[in-house]
Amino acid sequence: MIDVTLLGTAALLPLPDRALTAAALSCAGHTILFDCGEGTQTAARKAHVNILSAGVIALTHCHGDHIFGLPGLLQSMFSMNRTAPLVIVGPQEAQAELAPLVKLAGRLSYEVRLAALPAGGVRLCELQPGWPGEARLSAFRTEHRVASQGYAFTLGRAGRFMPERAQALNVPVKAWSTLQRGASVTVDGRVVTSDEVLGAPRRGLKFVFSGDTAPCAALEEAAREADLFICEATYGENEQAPLAADHGHMTFAQAGALAARAGARRLWLAHYSQMIQEPGEYIENARAFFPDAVCGEDGMAITLRFEEDSLRG
Ligand SMILES: [Zn+2]
Ligand SMILES: [Zn+2]
Repeated sequence: MIDVTLLGTAALLPLPDRALTAAALSCAGHTILFDCGEGTQTAARKAHVNILSAGVIALTHCHGDHIFGLPGLLQSMFSMNRTAPLVIVGPQEAQAELAPLVKLAGRLSYEVRLAALPAGGVRLCELQPGWPGEARLSAFRTEHRVASQGYAFTLGRAGRFMPERAQALNVPVKAWSTLQRGASVTVDGRVVTSDEVLGAPRRGLKFVFSGDTAPCAALEEAAREADLFICEATYGENEQAPLAADHGHMTFAQAGALAARAGARRLWLAHYSQMIQEPGEYIENARAFFPDAVCGEDGMAITLRFEEDSLRG
C-alpha cells in the first residue's frame, strides 16, 4: 500500500492558494518527499502530511521553485531534534549546487547524505534501513533546460505462497514466513528456495513523478502502466506547444498524450503556469488523449493498493 499526496501544483511562483509543485509518498511508515520549493513545509502541514520525518528527499532539478525550500526544511527537522539520517537524491550534475543549500541550513542534529541514484535505481532498504525490501526508487533523465530527472517508485509483489508445495518439500510451518519473505530455508540438509514455493510475481504498484520536462521517451517508458502518474502540464492551450518546447515544459494535451501512450492508469496534472487561473478550463485538452485525466490540486491524496486488495475493499 502506498499513500501519495500532491502538496502543490504551481510552477515558478508560489501563489496564496497554490503551492509550488511537490509530492509526498509514504509506504510502511517511511516517506519520500519529491521536490521542495518555497512553501512546501506549509503545504505539507495544510495537507496533514509529516515531511519532517521524511527519510529521502528526491529533487528533480536545480530550479528555485523545486529546491529553495530545502534549507528551511532541514532547519525545521533540526528544531524537532531529528537524529535519523536523511538522504537527498538529485541529478549527478546538481550535487555541487545542492551542497551549499545543505550548508546554509547550518549545524544539524542528523547526518545528511547527498547521493545520485545508480543506473537502474536502488532498493530503498539499501539506501536507508527499514524500507520494505520490495520498494525501489529509480531516476530517469528528462529534458529540461538544466540537468533534470524524474522518479519512479515501485513496490514489487512476490508470487502467491503455495502451502501444498511447502508441505511436499517437508518445510515445517514455522519456516513458511521465511520463504514468503523471499529467503531460503534448509530442510533435512537441503536448501529450499522461495522460488520453489511461490507462484509467479504479481503486479506491484508504481508511482511516477515527472519533474519539469518536455515530452520525452524516458518519461514515457518510466510512466508505463503507472498506477499514478503526476505529470507536469505547465501550459493549458494546445497552441502554447512552441512556448512549452522553448522552456522544456509540456502542455495539458502533451501530458495527456504521453500518459495515454504509456498506458498509465491514473494521470494527475501539476506545475501550472501562473497564467492558468482555473486549470479545469483546460482539462479537455488533456482528456482528448487521456479521458480520465485529472487536474491535480494542492492536498489531493490517494491510497494505492495491490490489485486484489483493492477489489476486496
Ligand atoms: Zn518548475
Ligand atoms: Zn524547471
